[in-house]
Amino acid sequence: MINDKSLNDKLRDAKLIYDLEKIEEREDFSFQLNWEKIDTPEGLFDIIDKVDVDFYIEKNSEGFIIKGAVKTKLELECSRCLKKYHQDINGEIEAYYINERLSDKYIKNEKLESLDNTIFFNESKVDITDRIIESILMEISEKPLCDENCKGLCPVCGVDLNENPEHKHEEEYIDPRFAKLLDIFNEE
Ligand SMILES: [Zn+2]
Ligand SMILES: [Zn+2]
Repeated sequence: MINDKSLNDKLRDAKLIYDLEKIEEREDFSFQLNWEKIDTPEGLFDIIDKVDVDFYIEKNSEGFIIKGAVKTKLELECSRCLKKYHQDINGEIEAYYINERLSDKYIKNEKLESLDNTIFFNESKVDITDRIIESILMEISEKPLCDENCKGLCPVCGVDLNENPEHKHEEEYIDPRFAKLLDIFNEE
């Protein structure tokens, strides 16, 4: 999903690495990140607000569950009219960290698609940067739109049809000499 790892890798930060061994039962975390840009399959976008992250880590018999919310605001580009617009992001984190010792049992018993949010771990330190990035990416549609009724650009001259709703081109001009030829073709 992450198309240029090196760009988003700049978002990594030691404080986003958690030692699961230190979690007794459940612990809550809440903080803000000053991320400036995020690389997405739709392009590199500016993050124009603090990234609010709230989540908890809870221990269970097989590992840990990490669940929470990510809120921020992005400046996206409309895929129809190419204008920049702001979009609120209300992402979710939900990940299951299963001890690698149990992976065989898991893969045998569970359908693969239900393992989407499952990460097998063998070290107790986990980096949640990717969980935050994913939660933001999930909120960006494949074709971002400034408005679902955006009229886009004129395919002939590129004028913004939202600003020029009456914009039209004359009927396609057909040279009368060709018109005759077209008649001949149509008769055949
Ligand atoms: Zn638009
Ligand atoms: Zn036009």
